[in-house]
This record gives sequence, structure tokens and C-alpha cells, in this order.
Amino acid sequence: MESYYQAGFEKFKKELNYSYEKVPFFKKHLDSAGAHPSAVRAISDIIKLPFTEKQHYRKNFPLGVLAQGYKPNDRRLTRSQSSGTTGERLVTVEVGMLLLNRAVKCARINPAIDKVMSNYAKKTCRYAAPNCSDVECANPNSTMEDRLLLDGTLVLPVYHDLLTTSEELIDRALEEICEYKPDLYYIDPTHFAFLVRQAKARGIQLPEAPVMATYTGPTLCARNQINEAFGGRHALIELLASSEMGWLGLECPQGHLHLNTDSFFLEVIRDGHYAEPGQTGELYITSLDNGALPHIRYKTGDAVRLLDKQCPCGNRMPVAEMQGRMMNFIKHKNRYLASPYDIDQLIGSPQWLDQYQCHQIDENSIVLKLMVNVEFEPEAGDQLAARLEDFLSNGITVKVEKLNYIATERSGKFHATKSDVTTPAFFGEANEIA
Ligand SMILES: [Zn+2]
Repeated sequence: MESYYQAGFEKFKKELNYSYEKVPFFKKHLDSAGAHPSAVRAISDIIKLPFTEKQHYRKNFPLGVLAQGYKPNDRRLTRSQSSGTTGERLVTVEVGMLLLNRAVKCARINPAIDKVMSNYAKKTCRYAAPNCSDVECANPNSTMEDRLLLDGTLVLPVYHDLLTTSEELIDRALEEICEYKPDLYYIDPTHFAFLVRQAKARGIQLPEAPVMATYTGPTLCARNQINEAFGGRHALIELLASSEMGWLGLECPQGHLHLNTDSFFLEVIRDGHYAEPGQTGELYITSLDNGALPHIRYKTGDAVRLLDKQCPCGNRMPVAEMQGRMMNFIKHKNRYLASPYDIDQLIGSPQWLDQYQCHQIDENSIVLKLMVNVEFEPEAGDQLAARLEDFLSNGITVKVEKLNYIATERSGKFHATKSDVTTPAFFGEANEIA
């Protein structure tokens, strides 16, 4: 792992010095931890630096976190808003050109996306929770013109609580796609899988275009439903992005997620140490481009597993698997038992399953909510529950509920696996799940 971190070390130090000298918050933050940038001489010194969290940027926004030379109303700055995964929304800014540069570097990972990104007249269809968009797309009376953004993005109409979206609004979204003929779909995979199932039921073939899935990680179910509709094994392309920092990683044509280490210094922290290849840890991000709102060791709350392998696609940026939100791991007696990714791999994508939610209620019980189709056979649900119990062991029981509706989170997103257990948890070596 040393060489992985070594590659970005000099750039990290430059960004650290820049932040310390130009950003009031970072001077205070580092000083109060007794950490001066000059003390960082090796990779092992980075982990001793204090990390930052969303609240730091929120509390000090804008003047405390803006670098010297930038003003809040600066015309070079692009403003964005997080969808509020953890409740509160965060407003942030960055130099528009820097965000674009980060996206351009990341897009090189996948030629189909690279090509569409260089098309300045591209038409994009966006289908995601209304919170994620900049227009009022849940309003059933809005017209296509109301939802067309300046950059050529058509925001498709959908309700905040996805599965309650009316037939009328589904019809309208499908009609608009066919009329607009997008060059790119920019979508939340759970949302778009739902729309794709609706299209299939109506016998509608959606126009061909790359499908970039972001906002939440795709489940195997959603991935397969979308791939099937677009006739390709890797039709769905996962984009790892944050509303604060832009494009962090992209899936290559071989189906591997590469992290954008050209634009970011990305750390994977496991119980306070750097994770070894193949181990899961939490993703910490440092920007590297001396921007308006630099981030140093920003704790994302997202888990990732770095893989120590060369991808046959030829891209040299590291390959990783997104594991889901840390708070949504299945936990037991202060240990992380399984990530949302692990659960998804176990559940897989049986033909009878449209969508699911694995919901940990307390330390010892899980409710497995299944939305099934006509292929479903009664024993399939119980078999799946038994496999899950086996996998998690520790006396955890899994109860199956077959239903037609699963509510979204307050943010409008879906978490395929979520946990109500909030006690602090650790990985601990005994619980490594290969
Ligand atoms: Zn690759």
C-alpha cells in the first residue's frame, strides 16, 4: 500500500501547506491539534493529522473555509448542495473550472463517458430523487421546459417517495425520454431500475445511450435490470461522485471502479490504520488542486475496499469496490459484520426479485423486505433468509416480508441495506469477511 500512497504524497503536502497558509479554518484546525504541515515528512505522518468532517465545512462556511483570494459571490465559483444523506444539507462552492478538470480526468477511465463529456451540446436525462436535482421535478404540473437546465440536462419528473410515483408521471417520464433522445443517462440506479421495469411492462424500448449511475451504489438487481434493458453486460457505468468535490471514481469498460487519484489523495482507514489491499475501510479525501475550498482528510462516511490488481483495461488508477455507507453496515457487539456490498453480493440478482431492503432493526434481528415479480416461488424468500442468517451467524435472525412498497429515506434515496444500530463499531481482525 505504501507505493499507492507514495504516488500522491508530494501533491498532498502542497495542498496541506496551501490550506494552512490560505484558509483560516485549516490554520486553526491544525494548530489546535498541534500539527504543523512541516511535521509531515512521510506517509506515516499523514495519519496523525486531524481529519475533517462535514460539520467543519458547514460551520465555517463561507469565510472560514474559503481560500484567500476568493469571495462567496465570486463569479468563478460553482455552488452545489448535498442531498442530505445524513439529514442536513450542505452548501458548498468550488471553482467551476477545477470541478470540470476533475470530471475530465475521471472521464478518461471510460471511453464511452469520455466521448460524451467532450460533446458540449450533449443532451442528458436525469432520473434521481428530486432533492438531488436543482429543479422542482416532483411537481406533476411542471412541463419539460420547466425542467430543462441550461447545460442540456432534462430532469425527469418523479415523486420524492419513488415507489408512490403516479402512473401518469411514469408515462410522462418515459415519453419525455423517447422524445428527448439523450446522449447520456445520469441516474440513481434504484430509481432508474424502477423506470426501466415500468418501460418493460409497457413494451417501451428506451433510446440507447451510456447510463451513468451515481447518488447511490447500484445493487446487482438494479444493475442487471438496467444492463438487460440496454443490451450490454457493462451498460451501467458506476460513477462515484460527491456533491462537494465532484468526480471521485468511475467504472471502466471491464466493469471495475477506478479511483480518481489524479485529482484526489484518497485514504482508506480501518480502525485508525491504513487498510491493506482487499480490506474494507472508510474513505478519506484530500483535494489536490489548490482550489477555493480545499478539503484535507475529509471523512466521507463511505466505505471502500481497495483491490491490489492491475485492470486489463490498462488504466493505472487503483481499482476499488464501494462498500456502502459506514452507518449502514450490519453490526453486532460493536463489530462490523458485513457491508451493504457484502449483503448485496449474497442476495445477488435472482430473476424473481425486483428490489429489496435488508434492514437491521437491532443487534439480533433483520427484516428482509422483498419486492418480487411473477417469477417468485414461495420458498425462495425463506431460502434467501436462511443463507443470510448463515452468513451473518452470531444468532442474528432474518425475517422475510414480501411487499409492494419500500419507503425511501428522508433524502429521497434508497439504502438497500440499512442499520438502526448506532453503537460505535470496529472491524477487528476476527471479522474480516473475504
Ligand atoms: Zn479498468
